[in-house]
Amino acid sequence: MNVHDKYKPLTFWERTYLPRIWDGLALTMRRFFFNLWHFTLASMGVKREWKGAVTVQYPEVRRLFWPRLRTLHRLTKREDGTPRCVACMMCETVCPAKCIYIVAGERPEKQIEKFPVKFDIDLGKCVFCGYCVEACPEDAIRMDTGVLEISAYSRNAMLLNRDTLLSFEPKKEYYVARPDLA
Ligand code: SF4
Ligand code: SF4
Repeated sequence: MNVHDKYKPLTFWERTYLPRIWDGLALTMRRFFFNLWHFTLASMGVKREWKGAVTVQYPEVRRLFWPRLRTLHRLTKREDGTPRCVACMMCETVCPAKCIYIVAGERPEKQIEKFPVKFDIDLGKCVFCGYCVEACPEDAIRMDTGVLEISAYSRNAMLLNRDTLLSFEPKKEYYVARPDLA
């Protein structure tokens, strides 16, 4: 096919865009009356098994997240409840948004040198790239809380500190399947 054939001049009707507008309206109206009919029957107790609109009644109903979805961060804990983080600064270094702030302190144990005295994430700057999770050698930071509703009235409220990050739990029930979150 000659490449110019793809760009042959529009007809008069095509130039008015009316046929395409009509197609769009017809599709919308067909779906509208289809859903109206189904919901009316369902509300009267008839044909409850018929599927109506695909609208999800969020937030009462949530769609399951795909396992790879990155949601709000959390810091994982050791068995004694202390942070798994060893304050190696890998996540802070790799973070492209420069939104992680860590201050390291010394642990009394010989086998674990450091822990984060301060570990803040500024969600106002975070781009949810997940690099911090990828870079962590200790599996100390994860993005599996299932929390996506992240909003605040001030910039300061977007700053999550260490204890808040440690308090979050993974939300297994929000995901399609995460056997690793057991
Ligand atoms: S998800 Fe990306 S931008 Fe956000 S804290 Fe982690 S590395 Fe930084
Ligand atoms: S969360 Fe992981 S990468 Fe970040 S400082 Fe702690 S141990 Fe290092």
